[in-house]
Amino acid sequence: MTRITVAKGDGIGPEIMDATLAVIKAAGAKIEIDEIEVGEKVYLAGNTAGIAKESWDVIRRNKVFLKAPITTPQGGGYKSLNVTTRKFLGLYANIRPCISLYPFVQTKHPVMDVVIVRENEEDLYAGIEHQQTDEVVQCLKLISRPGCEKIVRYAFEYAKQYGRKKVTCFTKDNIMKQTDGLFHQVFDEIAKEYPEIENEHWIIDIGAAKLADTPEAFDVVVMPNLYGDVLSDVAAQIAGSVGLAGSANIGETCAMFEAIHGSAPRRAGQNMANPSGLLQGAIMMLNHINQTEVAEKVQNAWLKTIEDGIHTYDIYKEGVSKQKVGTKEFAEAVISNLGKNPAKLKSVKYEKGQAIDLKKYSRKTPAKKELVGVDLFVHWNGFSADELAKILSKVSIEKVKLSMITNRGIKVWPEGFEETFCTDHWRCRFKPEGDRLLTHDEIISLLKSASNSGVDVIKTENLYHFDGKPAFSLGQGQ
Ligand code: NAD
Repeated sequence: MTRITVAKGDGIGPEIMDATLAVIKAAGAKIEIDEIEVGEKVYLAGNTAGIAKESWDVIRRNKVFLKAPITTPQGGGYKSLNVTTRKFLGLYANIRPCISLYPFVQTKHPVMDVVIVRENEEDLYAGIEHQQTDEVVQCLKLISRPGCEKIVRYAFEYAKQYGRKKVTCFTKDNIMKQTDGLFHQVFDEIAKEYPEIENEHWIIDIGAAKLADTPEAFDVVVMPNLYGDVLSDVAAQIAGSVGLAGSANIGETCAMFEAIHGSAPRRAGQNMANPSGLLQGAIMMLNHINQTEVAEKVQNAWLKTIEDGIHTYDIYKEGVSKQKVGTKEFAEAVISNLGKNPAKLKSVKYEKGQAIDLKKYSRKTPAKKELVGVDLFVHWNGFSADELAKILSKVSIEKVKLSMITNRGIKVWPEGFEETFCTDHWRCRFKPEGDRLLTHDEIISLLKSASNSGVDVIKTENLYHFDGKPAFSLGQGQ
């Protein structure tokens, strides 16, 4: 018996949760349920997180959380409960299988069977943003080695457990050589530990185009957070319907399972909604808690129900579907099919021990880190980089000189182009003369000197070599 936490959510949430629980219980799921209240009511009672402190205690105690969609009220500074839950519980992996059910559900991609593995905690979603000048705002893209190692390893372990043949990595490391570069590098390192699984890397733009056009070329696809956010919806939609996909959010100790769609408030209380997305989430949960036989039984009964043409309104199609049913009747049809397999769609067979247990991250020996320069970011309202360089020549201190100015990453001094458009946000690179390293005291002197000259430094970034290799971007055109 496994104790799980359940939240019925808002809108269509309670109906699809009741249907889902009825199906998995009828299939023999050995679960005990603690129900908590999250979402709209909690938000509107004045809790901007949408969840009470006591509910966190229940989630953390049970470690397994099945959550129906919730409604986040518009405006008023309400925080997304999904994002908060993922971050608080360290749910680093978001897994979203996208399978086409052709010809029973319409899709342009009849043989699609792709699993998107999205990094769930880092990247631009750290939400660290600042306005720095009148014209420029910034969002920090943070990618960490442990973050990359965990998600990439998870993708390969997932492929291994579910008998998948290939793991593809999507990044934009031709442009973001440090951040996406690290993700790609870790992918290459970890891929070597799984010689039996094919691996490949695509630049995200052409990879995304290929995924949308020829999804049958992909199997498991792993990517950083933002790309995964976008492409997991694309993949679910082109498989047939976002209403049919479930997702798992996995952490080292806790996990959350859900449908990918929202609370569809307009359909609430009408016994119309399709419970399939949440049911798919529940099947992943059953695998996670090692009730694989129940998971298998539910999935095969669900496939048979879809194949029998028993469809809710969202996937109902004249000529293909046989019977339009409501939420409850759909669940009853799945229950009556328990123990049966689909005839045309491929039935599933899950291996025991589906919960993926990753080895703990171990920190590597620190690299040799050398300070070789500093970028001062300056807010300046002028337009001529040559003029700014003159002002900054007064900021230079003994043996530490201005070496380059860029604007939005493009080198504008020395030898810039007049045509380059410049904002009020300038990156001014200072380096020590000769082969000497820079000291932190020299950075402080530079900042004092800038302040004395009336130069508005909005932030600094230190330039390092790690194990002798430059670990910062050059100016474009440098
Ligand atoms: P939505 O997914 O709720 O609805 C989009 C469309 O799909 C609607 O036409 C809806 O009727 C239909 N639809 C969705 N699920 C369906 C189902 N199971 N069966 C049949 N039709 C279904 O997206 P939205 O309208 O943008 O958002 C509504 C609310 O849901 C918002 O408050 C949003 O914040 C919230 N939301 C919650 C989650 C979550 O809790 N995981 C995710 C997305 C959106």
